[in-house]
Amino acid sequence: MTEAYIIDGKSIAAKLREQISAAVASIVATEKITPGLAVVLVGSDPASQVYVRNKARQTIAVGMRSFETKLPEDVSEAELLEAVHRLNSDPAVHGILVQLPLPQHIHTAKIIEAITPEKDVDGFHPLNAGRLALGLPGLVPCTPLGCLMLAKSWLPDLSGLNAVVIGRSNIVGKPLAQLLLAENCTVTIAHSRTQNLPQICARADLLIAAVGRPAMVKADWIKPGATVIDVGINRVPVPATIEEEGGKAERKTRLVGDVDFAAAKAIAGAITPVPGGVGPMTIACLLRNTLQAACTQAGIAMPQLDRSGN
Ligand code: NDP
Repeated sequence: MTEAYIIDGKSIAAKLREQISAAVASIVATEKITPGLAVVLVGSDPASQVYVRNKARQTIAVGMRSFETKLPEDVSEAELLEAVHRLNSDPAVHGILVQLPLPQHIHTAKIIEAITPEKDVDGFHPLNAGRLALGLPGLVPCTPLGCLMLAKSWLPDLSGLNAVVIGRSNIVGKPLAQLLLAENCTVTIAHSRTQNLPQICARADLLIAAVGRPAMVKADWIKPGATVIDVGINRVPVPATIEEEGGKAERKTRLVGDVDFAAAKAIAGAITPVPGGVGPMTIACLLRNTLQAACTQAGIAMPQLDRSGN
């Protein structure tokens, strides 16, 4: 049996960024508008700092302006709201992203709701979530949008397919299910209380795992020939590689997805790897959303980008 086609998120994201770059150059030249993305970072979580640095680098690389607001871990909710309000009224800022998670003492929902919906490039504001549910145009969360593009790069027409989404979070599972419904899939959303998960997955022509449990989805859960999109990012220790460094034991780690990739690729028709699958698409889609937000705010049409990333 032939092995699954590997859907290369890294190269599809690179092509999408090229298209965004060209579109940005064109609106800078014709409309004299440079799209701007502001990222707000609270605290000093190392993973969040890496994400924010990556976002800034890629924002500048496509010709947009990048703004960064860094606030201390103990910032008050009122001060954070004030920072969001300032960005809401700054005409150079077209997109605002508040890096999550926020410290415990801050109500995340309150901060998200404070972002002007037209600048909500994460697509988490209730107005944008509602527009997606109603099938109206709006800003769509980046990771689900990236998953859809990856699926469509392999299967341009998803109409009529059985799609199973494992995970029902507001940032991945639920919006992804809405996007797939809009593509005329028959959508099943599974979660921690779902019974007979392997049997449900085995019916999927398109299986998407967004759980956060390393290699949970086994090869025998997958319908032969199915398309598998693995959203999970899990850092696991590499076995038997404990190294002594300066007298301190240091365990090496690697990233794995929610799907048992090595076994699954013998059954699936196409599959995304981790790393190099959904991850690179998330930031590319953030840039896409910033372009869309800038166009909407300027009252101009969003340039046509190839949704499949091809
Ligand atoms: P959440 O923890 O918010 O949601 C996880 C979902 O998985 C929940 O709906 C939960 O069910 C469900 N779940 C947990 N255990 C099981 C189980 N045993 N069987 C079936 N369902 C289960 O996570 P996120 O949605 O934020 O993220 C999911 C994964 O995607 C994580 O690994 C995260 O790191 C990754 N991710 C990757 C991104 C990227 O850019 N590639 C971006 C965002 C996330 P219930 O609701 O019942 O608790």
